[in-house]
Parts: sequence; structure tokens; C-alpha cells
Amino acid sequence: MKVYNFSAGPAMLPEEVMLKAQEEFCDYHGTRCGIMELSHRGPEFMEVLATAKQNICDLMKLGDDYAVCFIQGGASMQFCMIPMNFMPAGGVADYADSGTWSANAIKEARRFGTVNIVGSSKETNYDRIPLVRHWKPSENAAYLHITSNNTIAGTQYHTFPPVKEGVPMIADMSSDFMSRVIDINEFGMVYGGAQKNLGPSGVALVIIRKDLAARANSDLPTMLRYSTYIEKDSMFNTPPTFAIYMLKLITDWMKAKGGLAVIEEINNTKSEALYELLDRSDFYRSPVSPGSRSKMNVVFRLPSEELEATFVKEATQNGMTGLKGHRSVGGIRASIYNAMPIAGVEALIDFMIQFEKANG
Ligand SMILES: *Cc1c(COP(=O)(O)O)cnc(C)c1O
Repeated sequence: MKVYNFSAGPAMLPEEVMLKAQEEFCDYHGTRCGIMELSHRGPEFMEVLATAKQNICDLMKLGDDYAVCFIQGGASMQFCMIPMNFMPAGGVADYADSGTWSANAIKEARRFGTVNIVGSSKETNYDRIPLVRHWKPSENAAYLHITSNNTIAGTQYHTFPPVKEGVPMIADMSSDFMSRVIDINEFGMVYGGAQKNLGPSGVALVIIRKDLAARANSDLPTMLRYSTYIEKDSMFNTPPTFAIYMLKLITDWMKAKGGLAVIEEINNTKSEALYELLDRSDFYRSPVSPGSRSKMNVVFRLPSEELEATFVKEATQNGMTGLKGHRSVGGIRASIYNAMPIAGVEALIDFMIQFEKANG
């Protein structure tokens, strides 16, 4: 039986991509070497890297003013690289506090300067995106940092805050990267760990406006400067070749599907079907404010923690894994990233209806 994996990350990959990687693992394009054995400076890997970058540019419609970088250390490394590069001495940066990952980013930034929290939903357990019209930006912020999708609380920005002249907006998009069409021109930089929506863990995809990178602090260690990754094409040192290879296959798959507009349509269908069920049920309950619901991580509660434990157990027996909510908040979380097929969501909905009938 096919298992549908609803885990928040590392998460499901498209089956076609897994099969392709398996096929090429021991013999990459007739080289009789596996892709992991090939030099990162050889023609085969250079082509993989170039194609991955081109795919990302095509999918996200990036202009020449943006650079695509692959940086090790996941999204968490970016939490410190951002202030290191962009916080001037004695400076201030604006941060929206919309969840656990925002709070982690804020904690790191405070090592390098003053953080002004423009808005926070912490008091209501991060059940919503803090209302943008109540935000209090600082006079002279070096940048604004937001988390576009809050993986643990299950909230997401449906519109982004307006851009203030001279204040680049930087977004952690780890859990909704390339799940929908965005206008990159609203952002100075977007980044994310790849393991949620793009494939393998360990690498962060960073898309950064070149003039912003050029303005960064210049007295940083080489490996921590964005300009190094731009100038050296993410190859100052040996890049994570396997992760980049997987990203290439996944972005090939996304292009073959028809691009981000088509993928967004499918993601809307999947999440709407789940929320529709939550809304009409008295048994399942969404703790998220309706205007802030995430299309990637659908979080919900059952009448008791005991029933939630039984739900997770029985779902697993029925071929649906990874549904336990984050350990910090409990409940149930269905992560339905790009690679989760509609059939997986339909199977979950059928199971939920049966479970309610048996336990409601
Ligand atoms: C998972 C996640 C992170 C952390 O990613 P790592 O690659 O493990 O560092 C950061 N931000 C968000 C929104 C996430 O979902």
C-alpha cells in the first residue's frame, strides 16, 4: 500500500523524482559513476547546477537583478547570516513575530543589533498573522523580516505587507517556497530550507537582489557573505551536490507540471477540501483564525488529546503518516506541500469522515 506522508519536513517528494534519482544514482547519464561521485567542477555537475538555477529563475520569473544561491546550514543559518550581512553597527531591524520560527530568527538577530517587533500574535498562541495595519515599523530599519508560512501554528500571509521605500523585505519561505505565484520584486531576499517544499535537507535556497548583497557588511568571514555565493556561483567551496541535484530534479518536475500558477491551483484545491471538512464538522476544529489559514500546514484539533493520539495511530495503520502536530503545540497537523498528491488529501478526508463516524 502507498503511504501518504504528511510530515512537516523532511517531507514527501514526488514519486517520479524519487524514481529518476534512483535510476541515476549508480550511473549518471552513462558516466558509470553515481551523481554523488562526480566532481563538482566537472561538466556533469556544472550542468546540474546551471539547470537548477535556470529552473528557479524560470519558475519564479526572476530578473537579472536577482541571484540564486545555495547555502549550507539550512534556514537556521540564515537567521544569523541576515543580521550579520545587513544590520549596521548600532542599527535596528524590523521583525514580525508570527510563530516559533520567527521567534528563532528574532533571537539570533538580537545578537547583532536592536530588533523592533513590528507586530506579534504571540499572545493568542500565534493563531493568526499579526494584522499588518497595526504594525509599528521603526524609523530607520535596515530591513523587514517576515515568515511567509508558519509551519508549526499553521498560518500564512495571503497578502504581503506593503514595501517601505529603502527597507528591503526579507522572507523566510521555508514551508511555502514555490507553492504559489509571488512577485519577487516586493522582496529584497527570500530564503528557505529546501526540505519542506523543495526536497532535501541541509541546503537553503536564497534568492537575493544583487544590489542588496553588494551593500552588505564587508568585514565578514568569506563563507558568511552573500556576495561570496553570488561571485563564486555557490561554488566557493564544495557545494552540497546531492541536495542541488535533487533540487534540479524537483524543479524539472515543477516545470513539467506547468509552473507555479498550476501548482498553486492544485494547492488551493487540496487545502480548501480540508478546511471545508473542518468547517462543517463539530468534531474537528481549526485553532487558526480563518483569514490566516495556511495552505501548506493544516492544523486541527479533536475533542480530546486521547482521541488525537488514537487518530494518529489509526491513520498510520491506514497508510497516512506524520500527522502528529509539532511537539510544542500538540494536536494534528497535515502538511500538504507540492509533492502531496490530491489523492493523498482525498484519502485523509475519507479517513477523517470514518473516524468521526466511529468516535464522534
Ligand atoms: C523548518 C523551518 C525552519 C528551519 O529550517 P532548517 O533548515 O532546519 O534550519 C525555519 N523556518 C521555517 C518557517 C521552517 O518551517
